[in-house]
Amino acid sequence: MTLAELLPSVGACGEPPLEEDLWPAGTGFAAGGDLLFAGVAMTQLAARFGTPCQLLDENEVRRRARAFQAALPEAEIAFAGKALPCRAVFRWLSAEGLSVDVCSAGELACALSAGVPAERILFHGNVKTAEDLKAAVSAGVGRIVLDSFDEIEQLGALAIAQPVLIRVIPDVDAHTHPAITTGTAGQKFGFPLGSVPRAVERVLAHPGLRLAGLHCHIGSQVRSVAAYEEAARRMSRLLRALPVRVEQLDLGGGFAAPYLPGERPFDLAGFVQRIRAAVNYECARPPKLTLEPGRSIVANAGVTLYRVITVKPGFVAVDGGMSDNPRPALYGARYTARLVGRHTRAKRRTMTVVGRHCEAGDILAADVQLPEDIHAGDLLAVPVTGAYHHALASNYNLVGRPPLIGVRDGEARTLVRRETEEDLLRRDVG
Ligand SMILES: *Cc1c(COP(=O)(O)O)cnc(C)c1O
Repeated sequence: MTLAELLPSVGACGEPPLEEDLWPAGTGFAAGGDLLFAGVAMTQLAARFGTPCQLLDENEVRRRARAFQAALPEAEIAFAGKALPCRAVFRWLSAEGLSVDVCSAGELACALSAGVPAERILFHGNVKTAEDLKAAVSAGVGRIVLDSFDEIEQLGALAIAQPVLIRVIPDVDAHTHPAITTGTAGQKFGFPLGSVPRAVERVLAHPGLRLAGLHCHIGSQVRSVAAYEEAARRMSRLLRALPVRVEQLDLGGGFAAPYLPGERPFDLAGFVQRIRAAVNYECARPPKLTLEPGRSIVANAGVTLYRVITVKPGFVAVDGGMSDNPRPALYGARYTARLVGRHTRAKRRTMTVVGRHCEAGDILAADVQLPEDIHAGDLLAVPVTGAYHHALASNYNLVGRPPLIGVRDGEARTLVRRETEEDLLRRDVG
């Protein structure tokens, strides 16, 4: 037995410990400064699949889905598919009994082709085109979440007794980044509180629609349990005041994931206790609750591997960048990074990991501690890349998007293959 096996959270040769709560539970130290990802050495994964490469720990994804179900067994848990839209993930989570949220005909096609039952699909979005609505209706999706008065008419004209939820802006500030705040007045999603009675009236009057409940989603990367409690209270009051009884209250997703050392996971137990109390207090006959976690199920199940290409004073440049992770450029997201695959006793220095793209904002991890002898050819692992990475990737600079590799119990397989130059040129038909 090696020292690393005896002390799984401590590196064998003075490497810093694995930052608590950031890495999948199946991550551990291996010989030669390597890390095991769900039982496979990261250096082997990089050699077999190339870099950059997005790894996903299947057991971790399933474990997190089960944690939501165990915390609130009476609720429906719907995975927000936009966080990681891929067939394998939809299949795993559907097998775990989760529903799936989609917000385009493309995401719907992905969920259907993964075998997610249509009745367990919720269709969201502030813009649903005629094609989106037709695809949703013809698939027979379980619920469509109405976002505007126009949409009530647009969907009503196509559907027959389609179950719908009305998306409400509860006007609760989730204290997160403005780009991912969605629960306050003055943003583009849903019906303001004051217009809800009129929306309900219109839906009830429409033969094409059947009102199944109310929905809200206050934002993403939300840490505040109090913000959810306030939203639950407001939504419950609204539900109680409806002229008809509806069975469902969907409180959305947005539960924060820890990205940096020292950040704590979302307080799921505290959240459940407080929203349950709020809903039970306000409603004599409590509705069926739905939660829509996306990030909190997949973010910490993912790690991206990059190869160091060049080093300059203060900068480590790798073979990926804002094309596989635009989140730092979009909303100042912060990440950590660590050297994998060799031992070093070199001092740690503050450095910034940058990408290969032609923008100064192409940063992957600002001000991280890396050994000062880091050099071209080294392998870097960046944790917490399971949510909104594959989903937000682009072809900027005509760089092919990285593969998504699923790993479970020592076995790795490609879930989404690397994009090739042929893929990139196929659409360019001029
Ligand atoms: C994005 C979104 C979610 C999931 O948000 P996360 O931050 O990934 O948990 C849930 N519901 C709706 C309506 C969304 O738009």
